[in-house]
Amino acid sequence: MFKNKITLFKLLGFSVSIDASWVIILFLVVWSLARGVFPDYYPDLGDSLYWLMGLLGAVGFFICIIIHEFSHALAARRFGLEIRGITLFIFGGVAEMKEEPSTPKAEFFMAVAGPMASLLLSLFFGALYQFAGSLGWPTPAVGILGYLSAINMLLALFNMVPAFPTDGGRILRSALWWIKGDINWATRLASRISLLFAMAIVFIGFFNLVGGNLIGGLWWILIGAFLFNAANASYQQLLMERSFRGKTVRDFMNPDPVTVASHTTLQAFVDHYLYHYHYKMFPVVEESRILGSITISDVKAVPRDEWPHRLVGTLAQPLGQDNSISAGAPVKEAISKMSESGLSRLLVIEQGALTGIVTLKDLLDFLALKMEFEA
Ligand SMILES: [Zn+2]
Repeated sequence: MFKNKITLFKLLGFSVSIDASWVIILFLVVWSLARGVFPDYYPDLGDSLYWLMGLLGAVGFFICIIIHEFSHALAARRFGLEIRGITLFIFGGVAEMKEEPSTPKAEFFMAVAGPMASLLLSLFFGALYQFAGSLGWPTPAVGILGYLSAINMLLALFNMVPAFPTDGGRILRSALWWIKGDINWATRLASRISLLFAMAIVFIGFFNLVGGNLIGGLWWILIGAFLFNAANASYQQLLMERSFRGKTVRDFMNPDPVTVASHTTLQAFVDHYLYHYHYKMFPVVEESRILGSITISDVKAVPRDEWPHRLVGTLAQPLGQDNSISAGAPVKEAISKMSESGLSRLLVIEQGALTGIVTLKDLLDFLALKMEFEA
Protein backbone atom coordinates (compact mmCIF):
# COMPACT_ATOMS: atom_id res chain seq x y z
CA MET A 1 0.00 0.00 0.00
CA PHE A 2 2.85 2.38 0.84
CA LYS A 3 5.62 2.20 -1.69
CA ASN A 4 7.62 5.28 -0.70
CA LYS A 5 7.87 4.73 3.02
CA ILE A 6 10.54 6.43 5.10
CA THR A 7 10.94 5.16 8.67
CA LEU A 8 11.39 8.00 11.17
CA PHE A 9 11.74 6.43 14.61
CA LYS A 10 10.60 3.67 16.93
CA LEU A 11 8.55 4.30 20.08
CA LEU A 12 6.93 1.83 22.51
CA GLY A 13 7.72 -0.93 20.02
CA PHE A 14 5.97 0.70 17.06
CA SER A 15 7.93 2.06 14.14
CA VAL A 16 6.67 5.38 12.78
CA SER A 17 7.06 6.04 9.05
CA ILE A 18 5.99 8.70 6.61
CA ASP A 19 4.82 8.24 3.07
CA ALA A 20 6.70 10.49 0.63
CA SER A 21 3.40 12.28 -0.13
CA TRP A 22 3.46 13.61 3.42
CA VAL A 23 6.36 15.92 2.67
CA ILE A 24 4.11 17.75 0.19
CA ILE A 25 1.29 17.92 2.75
CA LEU A 26 3.65 19.26 5.41
CA PHE A 27 4.74 22.01 3.04
CA LEU A 28 1.12 22.83 2.14
CA VAL A 29 0.16 23.04 5.83
CA VAL A 30 3.09 25.35 6.66
CA TRP A 31 2.33 27.49 3.62
CA SER A 32 -1.43 27.82 4.22
CA LEU A 33 -0.83 28.64 7.91
CA ALA A 34 1.89 31.21 7.20
CA ARG A 35 0.20 32.88 4.23
CA GLY A 36 -3.50 32.43 5.09
CA VAL A 37 -4.66 31.43 8.55
CA PHE A 38 -2.31 33.30 10.88
CA PRO A 39 -2.17 36.62 8.94
CA ASP A 40 -6.01 36.55 8.82
CA TYR A 41 -6.47 36.05 12.56
CA TYR A 42 -3.42 37.96 13.85
CA PRO A 43 -2.59 40.81 11.45
CA ASP A 44 0.64 42.86 11.54
CA LEU A 45 3.04 40.29 13.01
CA GLY A 46 5.53 40.26 10.14
CA ASP A 47 6.34 37.66 7.50
CA SER A 48 9.16 35.77 9.21
CA LEU A 49 7.09 35.35 12.36
CA TYR A 50 4.19 33.95 10.29
CA TRP A 51 6.53 31.38 8.71
CA LEU A 52 7.84 30.38 12.14
CA MET A 53 4.27 30.06 13.47
CA GLY A 54 3.35 28.04 10.37
CA LEU A 55 6.27 25.69 10.90
CA LEU A 56 5.57 25.20 14.63
CA GLY A 57 1.84 24.77 13.95
CA ALA A 58 2.55 22.14 11.28
CA VAL A 59 4.98 20.24 13.52
CA GLY A 60 2.38 20.35 16.33
CA PHE A 61 -0.25 19.01 13.93
CA PHE A 62 2.15 16.26 12.86
CA ILE A 63 2.76 15.22 16.49
CA CYS A 64 -0.99 15.23 17.18
CA ILE A 65 -1.61 12.85 14.26
CA ILE A 66 1.08 10.53 15.64
CA ILE A 67 -0.63 10.62 19.06
CA HIS A 68 -3.95 9.79 17.37
CA GLU A 69 -2.42 6.77 15.62
CA PHE A 70 -0.58 5.67 18.76
CA SER A 71 -3.91 5.58 20.58
CA HIS A 72 -5.22 3.12 17.97
CA ALA A 73 -2.06 1.06 18.18
CA LEU A 74 -2.04 0.91 21.99
CA ALA A 75 -5.74 -0.02 22.11
CA ALA A 76 -5.07 -2.74 19.54
CA ARG A 77 -2.21 -4.08 21.61
CA ARG A 78 -4.49 -4.08 24.67
CA PHE A 79 -6.75 -6.53 22.75
CA GLY A 80 -3.83 -8.67 21.65
CA LEU A 81 -3.74 -7.49 18.04
CA GLU A 82 -0.42 -7.02 16.35
CA ILE A 83 0.31 -3.69 14.65
CA ARG A 84 2.89 -3.54 11.89
CA GLY A 85 3.65 0.12 12.37
CA ILE A 86 2.31 3.61 11.96
CA THR A 87 2.48 5.40 8.63
CA LEU A 88 1.57 9.00 7.96
CA PHE A 89 0.30 9.60 4.48
CA ILE A 90 -1.56 12.18 2.46
CA PHE A 91 -4.89 12.18 4.34
CA GLY A 92 -3.52 11.73 7.84
CA GLY A 93 -2.23 8.50 9.28
CA VAL A 94 -2.89 4.83 9.59
CA ALA A 95 -1.97 2.15 12.11
CA GLU A 96 -1.36 -0.88 9.94
CA MET A 97 -2.89 -3.99 11.46
CA LYS A 98 -1.55 -7.46 10.80
CA GLU A 99 -4.96 -9.02 11.41
CA GLU A 100 -8.56 -7.96 11.86
CA PRO A 101 -10.06 -7.62 15.36
CA SER A 102 -11.86 -10.79 16.42
CA THR A 103 -14.69 -9.27 18.48
CA PRO A 104 -16.92 -6.20 18.05
CA LYS A 105 -15.70 -4.95 21.42
CA ALA A 106 -12.05 -5.01 20.28
CA GLU A 107 -12.91 -3.24 17.04
CA PHE A 108 -14.99 -0.59 18.83
CA PHE A 109 -12.35 0.35 21.40
CA MET A 110 -9.59 0.27 18.82
CA ALA A 111 -11.48 2.55 16.46
CA VAL A 112 -12.77 4.97 19.08
CA ALA A 113 -9.35 5.45 20.73
CA GLY A 114 -8.08 7.70 17.92
CA PRO A 115 -10.90 10.27 17.78
CA MET A 116 -11.00 10.27 21.60
CA ALA A 117 -7.31 11.20 21.71
CA SER A 118 -7.90 14.00 19.17
CA LEU A 119 -10.87 15.29 21.17
CA LEU A 120 -8.83 15.34 24.40
CA LEU A 121 -5.95 17.12 22.62
CA SER A 122 -8.41 19.70 21.30
CA LEU A 123 -9.79 20.34 24.79
CA PHE A 124 -6.27 20.51 26.23
CA PHE A 125 -5.04 23.08 23.70
CA GLY A 126 -8.37 24.92 23.95
CA ALA A 127 -7.94 25.31 27.72
CA LEU A 128 -4.35 26.56 27.27
CA TYR A 129 -5.59 28.97 24.61
CA GLN A 130 -8.18 30.39 27.04
CA PHE A 131 -5.63 30.89 29.82
CA ALA A 132 -2.74 32.01 27.60
CA GLY A 133 -4.31 35.44 27.11
CA SER A 134 -4.75 36.13 30.82
CA LEU A 135 -1.26 34.75 31.60
CA GLY A 136 0.19 37.29 29.19
CA TRP A 137 1.64 34.75 26.73
CA PRO A 138 2.82 36.25 23.42
CA THR A 139 0.34 36.42 20.55
CA PRO A 140 2.17 33.91 18.28
CA ALA A 141 1.98 31.24 21.01
CA VAL A 142 -1.72 31.98 21.54
CA GLY A 143 -2.27 31.65 17.79
CA ILE A 144 -0.58 28.26 17.59
CA LEU A 145 -2.54 26.95 20.59
CA GLY A 146 -5.81 28.11 19.02
CA TYR A 147 -4.90 26.43 15.74
CA LEU A 148 -3.98 23.13 17.42
CA SER A 149 -7.26 23.13 19.37
CA ALA A 150 -9.26 23.71 16.18
CA ILE A 151 -7.36 21.23 13.99
CA ASN A 152 -7.68 18.43 16.56
CA MET A 153 -11.43 19.05 16.82
CA LEU A 154 -11.61 18.84 13.03
CA LEU A 155 -9.57 15.63 13.08
CA ALA A 156 -11.90 14.10 15.69
CA LEU A 157 -15.02 15.11 13.74
CA PHE A 158 -13.73 14.01 10.33
CA ASN A 159 -12.73 10.64 11.74
CA MET A 160 -16.17 10.16 13.29
CA VAL A 161 -17.92 10.39 9.91
CA PRO A 162 -19.48 6.93 9.63
CA ALA A 163 -17.85 6.07 6.31
CA PHE A 164 -15.14 3.50 5.68
CA PRO A 165 -12.18 3.70 5.98
CA THR A 166 -12.45 6.36 8.69
CA ASP A 167 -12.60 5.40 12.37
CA GLY A 168 -16.31 6.23 12.29
CA GLY A 169 -16.83 3.55 9.65
CA ARG A 170 -15.23 0.98 11.92
CA ILE A 171 -17.20 2.16 14.95
CA LEU A 172 -20.39 1.80 12.91
CA ARG A 173 -19.39 -1.69 11.79
CA SER A 174 -18.53 -2.79 15.33
CA ALA A 175 -21.95 -1.59 16.56
CA LEU A 176 -23.78 -3.46 13.78
CA TRP A 177 -21.59 -6.51 14.39
CA TRP A 178 -22.45 -6.39 18.10
CA ILE A 179 -26.21 -6.04 17.42
CA LYS A 180 -26.53 -9.06 15.16
CA GLY A 181 -23.35 -11.02 15.84
CA ASP A 182 -22.75 -11.35 12.11
CA ILE A 183 -19.61 -9.63 10.84
CA ASN A 184 -20.42 -10.20 7.17
CA TRP A 185 -23.80 -8.53 7.44
CA ALA A 186 -22.25 -5.71 9.50
CA THR A 187 -19.47 -5.15 6.96
CA ARG A 188 -21.92 -5.08 4.08
CA LEU A 189 -24.35 -2.68 5.73
CA ALA A 190 -21.60 -0.41 7.06
CA SER A 191 -20.05 -0.17 3.61
CA ARG A 192 -23.43 0.70 2.04
CA ILE A 193 -23.93 3.45 4.61
CA SER A 194 -20.36 4.63 3.86
CA LEU A 195 -21.12 4.93 0.16
CA LEU A 196 -24.31 6.88 0.90
CA PHE A 197 -22.38 9.29 3.13
CA ALA A 198 -19.70 9.76 0.49
CA MET A 199 -22.36 10.49 -2.12
CA ALA A 200 -24.05 12.95 0.22
CA ILE A 201 -20.72 14.77 0.63
CA VAL A 202 -20.31 14.97 -3.15
CA PHE A 203 -23.85 16.41 -3.41
CA ILE A 204 -23.10 19.02 -0.75
CA GLY A 205 -20.08 20.00 -2.84
CA PHE A 206 -22.18 20.17 -5.96
CA PHE A 207 -24.76 22.48 -4.33
CA ASN A 208 -21.95 24.68 -3.01
CA LEU A 209 -20.52 24.87 -6.50
CA VAL A 210 -23.87 25.83 -8.03
CA GLY A 211 -24.34 28.36 -5.23
CA GLY A 212 -21.11 30.09 -6.27
CA ASN A 213 -18.74 28.70 -3.62
CA LEU A 214 -16.16 27.36 -6.07
CA ILE A 215 -13.23 26.42 -3.80
CA GLY A 216 -15.36 25.08 -0.94
CA GLY A 217 -17.52 23.10 -3.36
CA LEU A 218 -14.52 21.51 -5.05
CA TRP A 219 -13.10 20.51 -1.66
CA TRP A 220 -16.34 18.74 -0.66
CA ILE A 221 -16.46 16.95 -4.01
CA LEU A 222 -12.83 15.89 -3.71
CA ILE A 223 -13.27 14.55 -0.17
CA GLY A 224 -16.53 12.79 -1.11
CA ALA A 225 -14.94 11.16 -4.14
CA PHE A 226 -11.95 10.07 -2.07
CA LEU A 227 -14.22 8.54 0.59
CA PHE A 228 -16.35 6.83 -2.06
CA ASN A 229 -13.30 5.19 -3.59
CA ALA A 230 -11.76 4.26 -0.28
CA ALA A 231 -15.04 2.86 1.07
CA ASN A 232 -15.39 0.64 -1.96
CA ALA A 233 -11.81 -0.56 -1.84
CA SER A 234 -11.79 -1.23 1.89
CA TYR A 235 -15.04 -3.23 1.64
CA GLN A 236 -13.56 -5.43 -1.07
CA GLN A 237 -10.41 -5.88 0.94
CA LEU A 238 -12.30 -6.78 4.11
CA LEU A 239 -14.34 -9.28 2.13
CA MET A 240 -11.28 -10.79 0.53
CA GLU A 241 -9.39 -11.04 3.78
CA ARG A 242 -12.32 -12.73 5.49
CA SER A 243 -12.94 -15.13 2.63
CA PHE A 244 -9.36 -16.26 2.26
CA ARG A 245 -8.32 -16.19 5.91
CA GLY A 246 -6.38 -19.33 6.85
CA LYS A 247 -6.57 -20.69 3.29
CA THR A 248 -3.48 -21.62 1.31
CA VAL A 249 -2.69 -21.81 -2.38
CA ARG A 250 -3.07 -25.60 -2.15
CA ASP A 251 -6.80 -25.21 -1.39
CA PHE A 252 -7.41 -23.46 -4.71
CA MET A 253 -4.84 -24.89 -7.12
CA ASN A 254 -5.60 -27.15 -10.04
CA PRO A 255 -3.46 -30.18 -9.11
CA ASP A 256 -3.39 -31.55 -12.64
CA PRO A 257 -2.34 -28.72 -14.96
CA VAL A 258 -1.72 -29.06 -18.70
CA THR A 259 2.05 -28.96 -19.24
CA VAL A 260 4.12 -28.43 -22.38
CA ALA A 261 7.26 -30.48 -23.11
CA SER A 262 10.31 -28.33 -23.72
CA HIS A 263 11.04 -29.95 -27.11
CA THR A 264 7.63 -28.88 -28.54
CA THR A 265 7.93 -26.43 -31.48
CA LEU A 266 6.30 -23.04 -31.14
CA GLN A 267 4.02 -23.91 -34.08
CA ALA A 268 2.80 -27.06 -32.33
CA PHE A 269 2.45 -25.12 -29.08
CA VAL A 270 0.24 -22.50 -30.75
CA ASP A 271 -1.88 -25.06 -32.62
CA HIS A 272 -2.31 -27.70 -29.95
CA TYR A 273 -2.06 -25.76 -26.69
CA LEU A 274 -2.83 -22.04 -27.04
CA TYR A 275 -5.73 -22.46 -29.49
CA HIS A 276 -6.93 -25.60 -27.79
CA TYR A 277 -6.95 -24.61 -24.09
CA HIS A 278 -7.00 -20.79 -24.34
CA TYR A 279 -4.78 -20.39 -21.25
CA LYS A 280 -2.43 -17.44 -21.08
CA MET A 281 0.42 -19.37 -19.47
CA PHE A 282 1.63 -22.96 -19.50
CA PRO A 283 4.20 -24.75 -17.35
CA VAL A 284 7.16 -26.01 -19.39
CA VAL A 285 8.58 -29.40 -18.38
CA GLU A 286 11.55 -31.50 -19.39
CA GLU A 287 11.09 -35.20 -18.62
CA SER A 288 8.58 -34.33 -15.85
CA ARG A 289 11.00 -31.79 -14.32
CA ILE A 290 9.68 -28.22 -14.20
CA LEU A 291 11.75 -25.77 -16.26
CA GLY A 292 9.61 -22.62 -16.13
CA SER A 293 6.65 -21.10 -17.91
CA ILE A 294 5.68 -19.81 -21.33
CA THR A 295 3.11 -17.11 -22.08
CA ILE A 296 1.35 -15.74 -25.16
CA SER A 297 3.54 -12.63 -25.11
CA ASP A 298 6.71 -14.78 -25.16
CA VAL A 299 5.48 -16.40 -28.38
CA LYS A 300 4.34 -13.11 -29.91
CA ALA A 301 7.88 -11.74 -29.58
CA VAL A 302 9.13 -14.38 -32.08
CA PRO A 303 8.52 -13.82 -35.84
CA ARG A 304 5.91 -16.22 -37.25
CA ASP A 305 8.24 -17.85 -39.80
CA GLU A 306 10.49 -19.07 -36.97
CA TRP A 307 7.66 -20.88 -35.19
CA PRO A 308 8.10 -24.24 -36.99
CA HIS A 309 11.70 -24.67 -35.81
CA ARG A 310 11.98 -22.76 -32.51
CA LEU A 311 11.46 -24.93 -29.42
CA VAL A 312 9.38 -23.95 -26.39
CA GLY A 313 12.28 -24.82 -24.06
CA THR A 314 14.49 -22.07 -25.54
CA LEU A 315 11.81 -19.48 -24.88
CA ALA A 316 10.57 -20.51 -21.44
CA GLN A 317 10.87 -18.04 -18.57
CA PRO A 318 12.92 -19.83 -15.90
CA LEU A 319 11.20 -20.80 -12.67
CA GLY A 320 11.44 -17.86 -10.26
CA GLN A 321 9.76 -15.66 -7.67
CA ASP A 322 7.67 -13.89 -10.34
CA ASN A 323 5.93 -16.86 -11.94
CA SER A 324 5.68 -19.32 -9.06
CA ILE A 325 4.47 -19.68 -5.49
CA SER A 326 4.78 -22.43 -2.89
CA ALA A 327 1.76 -24.61 -2.18
CA GLY A 328 1.68 -23.68 1.49
CA ALA A 329 1.67 -19.89 0.92
CA PRO A 330 -1.43 -17.92 2.00
CA VAL A 331 -3.87 -17.05 -0.80
CA LYS A 332 -3.35 -13.37 0.01
CA GLU A 333 0.28 -13.71 -1.06
CA ALA A 334 -0.73 -15.23 -4.40
CA ILE A 335 -3.13 -12.33 -5.04
CA SER A 336 -0.55 -9.66 -4.26
CA LYS A 337 1.98 -11.49 -6.45
CA MET A 338 -0.51 -11.57 -9.32
CA SER A 339 -1.34 -7.89 -8.95
CA GLU A 340 2.36 -6.97 -8.88
CA SER A 341 3.46 -9.07 -11.85
CA GLY A 342 0.26 -8.76 -13.88
CA LEU A 343 0.21 -12.56 -14.36
CA SER A 344 -3.17 -14.21 -13.80
CA ARG A 345 -1.69 -17.72 -13.42
CA LEU A 346 1.12 -18.92 -11.14
CA LEU A 347 3.02 -22.20 -11.03
CA VAL A 348 2.57 -23.96 -7.68
CA ILE A 349 5.79 -25.51 -6.44
CA GLU A 350 6.35 -27.99 -3.63
CA GLN A 351 9.87 -29.22 -2.83
CA GLY A 352 11.16 -28.10 -6.20
CA ALA A 353 8.49 -29.94 -8.18
CA LEU A 354 5.37 -28.66 -9.96
CA THR A 355 2.25 -29.66 -7.99
CA GLY A 356 -0.33 -27.48 -9.68
CA ILE A 357 -1.34 -24.12 -11.03
CA VAL A 358 -3.34 -21.37 -9.33
CA THR A 359 -5.38 -18.87 -11.35
CA LEU A 360 -6.87 -15.48 -10.56
CA LYS A 361 -10.12 -16.61 -12.21
CA ASP A 362 -10.57 -19.50 -9.77
CA LEU A 363 -9.96 -17.19 -6.81
CA LEU A 364 -12.42 -14.58 -8.12
CA ASP A 365 -15.02 -17.26 -8.88
CA PHE A 366 -14.76 -18.42 -5.28
CA LEU A 367 -15.22 -14.85 -4.02
CA ALA A 368 -18.24 -14.31 -6.27
CA LEU A 369 -19.78 -17.58 -5.08
CA LYS A 370 -19.23 -16.63 -1.47
CA MET A 371 -20.78 -13.21 -2.00
CA GLU A 372 -23.83 -14.76 -3.64
CA PHE A 373 -24.30 -17.18 -0.75
CA GLU A 374 -24.05 -14.43 1.85
CA ALA A 375 -26.20 -11.84 0.07
ZN1 LIG B 1 -7.95 7.20 13.45
